[in-house]
Amino acid sequence: MRAVVLGRLADGVTRGIEGFGRSVSESFFDPTLRLGVTGLSRAGKTVFITSLIANLIDRGRMPQLVAAAEGRVLSAFLQPQPDDTLPRFDFETHYAALTATDPHWPESTRAVSELRLSLRLRGAGILGGVTGPRTLHLDIVDYPGEWLLDLGLMAKSYQEWSDDTLARMAERPGGAEAQAALAAVDANAKLDETVAQGLAHGFTAYLRTARAAGFSDCTPGRFLLPGEMAGSPVLTFAPLPPGRAKRGSLRAEFTRRYDAYKSKVVQPFFRDHFARLDRQVVLVDALGAIHDGPRAVEDLRRTLADTLGAFRPGAASWLGRLLGARRVDRILFAATKADHLHHTQHARLTAIMGALVQDARRRADFAGARTEAMSIAALRATVEETRDHQGRTLDLVRGRLLDDGRVAAFYPGALPEDPGVLMAPAREGAEAWLDADYQVMRFAPAKQTLKPGEGPPHIRLDRAAQFLIGDRL
Ligand code: GDP
Repeated sequence: MRAVVLGRLADGVTRGIEGFGRSVSESFFDPTLRLGVTGLSRAGKTVFITSLIANLIDRGRMPQLVAAAEGRVLSAFLQPQPDDTLPRFDFETHYAALTATDPHWPESTRAVSELRLSLRLRGAGILGGVTGPRTLHLDIVDYPGEWLLDLGLMAKSYQEWSDDTLARMAERPGGAEAQAALAAVDANAKLDETVAQGLAHGFTAYLRTARAAGFSDCTPGRFLLPGEMAGSPVLTFAPLPPGRAKRGSLRAEFTRRYDAYKSKVVQPFFRDHFARLDRQVVLVDALGAIHDGPRAVEDLRRTLADTLGAFRPGAASWLGRLLGARRVDRILFAATKADHLHHTQHARLTAIMGALVQDARRRADFAGARTEAMSIAALRATVEETRDHQGRTLDLVRGRLLDDGRVAAFYPGALPEDPGVLMAPAREGAEAWLDADYQVMRFAPAKQTLKPGEGPPHIRLDRAAQFLIGDRL
């Protein structure tokens, strides 16, 4: 069965390329919708895009995508993307990983990439039959949420950024030692590149430790995901305690590199990629943060609020000027990996997702964008199961564990009905959840037997697609 589906996908690709040769001018004038897919590292961007594309090509599992359900999507095929210098999202390799005989998760997002999926549509409305098919190009742009977070740096001087970063370090794992090392250095000594590199390495190692412990705000974003800039001077600096910056000193050079990071890394990203988006999905591993504890949840909430500042820039700010009248007009906040929960808990996860972005969302709504919170699984790796356990029934999910390949049933803990039960202790800086324990398991992707016309199994990916692109189909 899979061979059939792969064949159909491959067909789609070739057809698309032929089609492109035939009608460059046609596709030039066809409407384009640019969909940004972001989220912090391991939020699920790669899996989301791969499954979305596969499920748009084979639409058998997309009943909530109204145009697909009504048969108005005639075909969907991949085309060469419009941006010659952007890496292509490697759909084929990622899809092959997920649907292999021994399926495995694809490699995660490390940098920005793009893919164009063209949808051939029946004309809508009463004239539909008369006007003939039309085409919509969906340009999907994948980029790390860490890069979006760098927006916060634009308004800060090197010293302001240093002060904020050093203050935060004390309470984070690995932070105290890194902070002590930075405090001990003679910042006014003449720049020594070996010392500079040592400090930058130590600082990057701390950011990595903090990220692994569940902290979200670990700027500068490229320190964790450097792309092709690894090792370059714009990524070789670290925060320093306040003091005068003598010419030629370490502090003067770090100040210069920080400013170069803003003007040569952050600003171009917003100009070249972010400013051109029409729609945005922000993927959030809320379950992972809940598992990591109240501090991780509060950090995630704050990070999301900061990130979303990008979607409501003031007209006077440089980003506001850059965007002009153009704005992202729909933003979806999706809690990913909902297949870790039995469906009886999905509404609770959605409520938590909503609470995490409540403040930020109010402001983005105000700026005219429609927003929605959902819980989804781009690729369903589990099945549901109900068991009797010590006299009560437990709603579980069962899947193959990533670590040892065993099939196991799993109960992650009961999420509260009222998200405030999690949000309040998080805001108050609690160390641990009072009377609850939340587990996460990593499941391997399940073996697929896809029927012709069906994409990989998911949870509410069709509803997500309806919100993001449905009105344009
Ligand atoms: P990225 O860093 O945002 O590109 O994240 P990925 O898409 O690579 O996802 C990171 C990891 O999260 C994957 O390797 C999977 O282990 C897990 N994951 C992502 N999406 C799903 C999903 O829908 N269901 C389950 N069970 N796990 C998922």
